[in-house]
Amino acid sequence: MTPTSTLDPAHVDPPAPATPLEESLAHRDLREGDYWRAIPAYADTTAAEFGDHRWQQRQTVTNVRQLRDTLGAIVPESFYEDLAAGIDAAPMALRISPHLLALVDWHEPLGDPIRTQFLPLHSQQEPNHPMLQFDSLHEQEDSPVPGLTHRYRDKALFLPQDSCPVYCRFCTRSYAVGNDTPEVEKLKLTANIGRWEQAFAYIASQPQLEDIVISGGDSYNLKADHIELIGRRLLEMPNIRRIRYATKGLAVLPQKILSDDAWVDALTRVVELGRQQHQDVVVHTHFNHPNEIVGWTAQAMDRLVERGIHVRNQTVLQRTVNDTPATMQLLVKRLSHVNVHPYYVYTHDMVPGVEDLRTSLATAMRLEKHVRGVTAGFNTPQFVTDTMGGGGKRDVHSFERYDRATGIAVFTSPAVKPGRQFLYFDPIAALDEQHRWRWTQPSERRAMIDAALGE
Ligand SMILES: *Cc1c(COP(=O)(O)O)cnc(C)c1O
Ligand code: SF4
Repeated sequence: MTPTSTLDPAHVDPPAPATPLEESLAHRDLREGDYWRAIPAYADTTAAEFGDHRWQQRQTVTNVRQLRDTLGAIVPESFYEDLAAGIDAAPMALRISPHLLALVDWHEPLGDPIRTQFLPLHSQQEPNHPMLQFDSLHEQEDSPVPGLTHRYRDKALFLPQDSCPVYCRFCTRSYAVGNDTPEVEKLKLTANIGRWEQAFAYIASQPQLEDIVISGGDSYNLKADHIELIGRRLLEMPNIRRIRYATKGLAVLPQKILSDDAWVDALTRVVELGRQQHQDVVVHTHFNHPNEIVGWTAQAMDRLVERGIHVRNQTVLQRTVNDTPATMQLLVKRLSHVNVHPYYVYTHDMVPGVEDLRTSLATAMRLEKHVRGVTAGFNTPQFVTDTMGGGGKRDVHSFERYDRATGIAVFTSPAVKPGRQFLYFDPIAALDEQHRWRWTQPSERRAMIDAALGE
């Protein structure tokens, strides 16, 4: 594989790390202190204010003007121009919490892993892969009622609403989540009890359904009453054995767990009801980089652990953010340290406007090799790819064929969609010059895909 200008060689084939002992304990060093005061707008913000979710929500930045008011001259004007142009070409609207803004290294914003995930820069964007589609996982096709995706036999995804405390560039659900952008008019899924009742009626009518993921949007944006209403309605169905509340909140606004007692108490009551009725109620969250786990996170997790609330993590693999063995090892160790259980690492989905974040399948396989053995097997995440076209999640190693020259991998999914083949495409930037050229030619594209499918 030829390293290209867009792929830093360090992210393509890093040397196997020989980890010195002091580095091997870095997972325990959680950032503490009033580091947020380095941000001009937060120079006088006390720990009590910064730790209050209402303050965090009030100060959340949703446009370039607010970002400029917050950061002032710690970044050059050219950064704001690059960002404004990046947002114009992006599928997601801008939304970032003060908690995250304060964790960015503003001396090196271009390479910062948190900046990269939330603030798109035009200078770093790449053209979309020619095979890319909106709703690449076909969630809308597998929806018996709006906001409910039933693809697997015994589990379903319930989307009660479509907003989040922050908007992530890599979001799979950019077809629905977030405000409209110049590029995309979204499917609207507002919190609406009438629509939820349709979803509950469907779930109750399907005896094989046992497991419901309450996603979104983000469960953080459900009111305390609604957290409890949804939890109780699901747990009273005799077929339901497991529910999970999905929220990125712990990674983007852990202060809510510490200061929104009504919300945490509502969640706790659902978990306790589940325990009494022998049903499993857990939280699924979403950390992508070790810098996202700081003192606030540990405090928030301590509170959940004391209440017997189990938290699992799903990570999205992203180029330059977490695609080196050292970063992924540190992430897994640090998650385990704060009692978050690493569950999955996903290859980045084929969504528009974020080609610069995607990695090859080979990268995911190499990272898995470096992560396995670092800590307990039960804290070792599975590396999966959620196949385009609705084949579901597949172990990255379980492809039928993978041609590293064309960057095409073929998967099957006998338990979900028997008899069909599903494709994964490495980013064009990971290919050599000849194959990059082939992807520019429609007839060559067809030939490469036909060859991969064995046609
Ligand atoms: C990921 C997903 C689930 C849950 O799958 P697990 O592998 O059990 O975490 C359920 N439904 C849909 C549509 C999904 O994409
Ligand atoms: S929090 Fe989750 S659903 Fe919301 S924008 Fe981020 S990835 Fe998408």
